[in-house]
Formats: sequence, structure tokens, C-alpha cells
Amino acid sequence: MVITDCIFCKIVSEEISSYKVYEDSKFLAFLDINPVNNGHTLVIPKKHYENFLDLPREFMGDYMSICQKICDAIIKGLNADGFNILNSSKRAAGQLVDHVHMHIIPRFKNDGLKHWPQHTYKDKEAVEVAVKIKSFL
Ligand code: AMP
Ligand code: ZN
Repeated sequence: MVITDCIFCKIVSEEISSYKVYEDSKFLAFLDINPVNNGHTLVIPKKHYENFLDLPREFMGDYMSICQKICDAIIKGLNADGFNILNSSKRAAGQLVDHVHMHIIPRFKNDGLKHWPQHTYKDKEAVEVAVKIKSFL
């Protein structure tokens, strides 16, 4: 399904230009226009799915495999020291473009990026939280 006002569908159809780094019949990878670090790449299915939960399960193996291939190329091609893979799903998580995409962010020693703030669980809180998640698995 092509969503006419979806910016990433327009990148797939080449109505909008992009700096492509990988393409096959099902996936496209291109540079994020506002990179966290140079080489920050977005990997998308060509078919429009809104977020991570909408992806068919049988799709995931190929999708992750392409992401891994791009991570490897980022390490080798950019001499990166590491990478982060990130997906934001839904507004609360910061998703701005509603066409599912994995961010692959090259990381360099001393690149100055900070990890997210963390906290510790209060008494019994971790058990309760784990139970809630497990009840749907
Ligand atoms: P998210 O907040 O996870 O939905 O990320 C959307 C990403 O898409 C942002 O990092 C933007 O910089 C990027 N982006 C938006 N428009 C374009 C575009 N035309 N070409 C490349 N990247 C884009
Ligand atoms: Zn789309």
C-alpha cells in the first residue's frame, strides 16, 4: 500500500531524493537527512507499515538480516567503533514518520553522546512489571 502523503513512500518511489546505501526488492536503506553522527542510516521496508508491531512476523528475519548487513558496512566503511539500532514506535516514543524504520547510528569513541537516564526499581516493582509483560507472552 502506498500512502500518498508518506515521506518514506515518496523516497521509495523516488518522488523525493535520498542518499541510498542499499536497495533490494523489499527493503531500502538511506541516510537520515539530520544525522546523529555521519552515516546515520534508516532501513525501511518498501511496503508501508506504520510501526514495528505492524510488521508481519515472517518479515522480521529478512529485515533484521539487512539491518545487520548495514551495521557491518557502517563499521567497516566508516571505521566506526560501534553502532546503535533504534526503532521509535508511536508518538510517545518519538516516532515522527509513520512508516516503520530502523535507525542505525554509527558510534565513535568519545563522540559525546549520552545514554538514556536509568533508575532502579522500588521494592517488588520489578516482579509486578515482569508479571504484567509475561501475561501477554
Ligand atoms: P523518527 O523520529 O524515529 O520517526 O525518525 C524520523 C527520521 O526521519 C528523523 O531522524 C529525520 O531526520 C528523518 N527524515 C525525515 N525526512 C527525511 C528525508 N526526506 N530523508 C532522510 N531522512 C529523513
Ligand atoms: Zn510509507
